[in-house]
Amino acid sequence: MFWAAPRTCYRHHSVFELPPLLLALAFILVGLAAWFLGRRNGTARTVRLPRDYYVGLDHLINDRFDHAAEIFARMAEADGDAAEIQFALGSLFRRRGEVDRAIAIHSRLRDHGGPGLADKAAFALALDYQSAGLMDRAERVLEELAASREYRRTALDHLVRIYEAQGDWAKALKVFHELPPAVQLERARVAAHYLCELAEHALVQGDSERARTLLRQARTHQAALPRADMLTARIAQQAGDAGGALLLYLHALETAPGLALEIIPSVLAIARQMRRHDMLNELGRRLRQSGGVSPRQLAWLLATAVPAEDMAQLPGITAELGGGMESAAEASSLSALLTRIGDAGGRYQCNECGLNSVGWYWRCPKCRSWDSMSPAVFKWAERADHVVRAS
Ligand SMILES: [Zn+2]
Repeated sequence: MFWAAPRTCYRHHSVFELPPLLLALAFILVGLAAWFLGRRNGTARTVRLPRDYYVGLDHLINDRFDHAAEIFARMAEADGDAAEIQFALGSLFRRRGEVDRAIAIHSRLRDHGGPGLADKAAFALALDYQSAGLMDRAERVLEELAASREYRRTALDHLVRIYEAQGDWAKALKVFHELPPAVQLERARVAAHYLCELAEHALVQGDSERARTLLRQARTHQAALPRADMLTARIAQQAGDAGGALLLYLHALETAPGLALEIIPSVLAIARQMRRHDMLNELGRRLRQSGGVSPRQLAWLLATAVPAEDMAQLPGITAELGGGMESAAEASSLSALLTRIGDAGGRYQCNECGLNSVGWYWRCPKCRSWDSMSPAVFKWAERADHVVRAS
């Protein structure tokens, strides 16, 4: 849950903007206090809280955080065993944005809290460093924790997310290979994306041979990989193999119709160069074969992706699809309307978090899911289908 929002500043006040969270933390502190007292009193059934706890909670609930912190810190010091209270306090400081104080508490626990607490304190410290934007230090602590038994998996997961956020795909891939085999299998698609990212970088560097090797490796993780098709098409095109590039683009489109807006302009450019004037018909046919997309979704997708000069062909193609556009004029005005809405609100939308975006992302910049973007036009067409069915 600490990943919810990356923070770069030390101070923020989200705790007090979120009363339920504050109350939850207050209850945690009460629970911990009761637990400690219950433990120390052995068989005693009624747990009596010291007056300081009530005073501290009163400060906490009434947003007098500094006073509350002072009281809880004093109580934690008075009870040598009260490591849990210190952890709760450290986490409270971190959430409050006072990361330097959280770091001080967790460092002390790690270095002097005894062997049973060292890993837990180190993990808390890694979260503090992340909150503070001190990624180098967070990485170092997490790499050490990856050698521990209890925290290995969590540490590896956090490292992966840090490397993904930094766009360090080589390191993300290295950590991926340290994950348990079952998890690697589950995340094979993500590893394929890391390799595609590396291949794209190699292409930018002009090293198409390395890009080719990386794409081959990507396909060992995931055989049907439209992103690899598109990159291989780019390499083929650069090498002068327009026909090969065309086939690869069409294959990618068949596998993932949602990529139409990215692929169709390249396909039409190559087709013009090869004097293949039937290409729009071919595109319609391939999209129809892809399945999983309704006729109206396909018709509207084409209306958005096809350039204005080819719009006259659209009614014929969409008639075959079964999605009605009576005339070239109708196709043009629909295309203009969809394009205008897309320009204003984003041509793509994330299926996971709903983020609207003008450009395409393989990984949503907001919720960080891979392959979650799809053309917004799909949703609009779906809504239109509902309206038609309802009327
Ligand atoms: Zn998202």
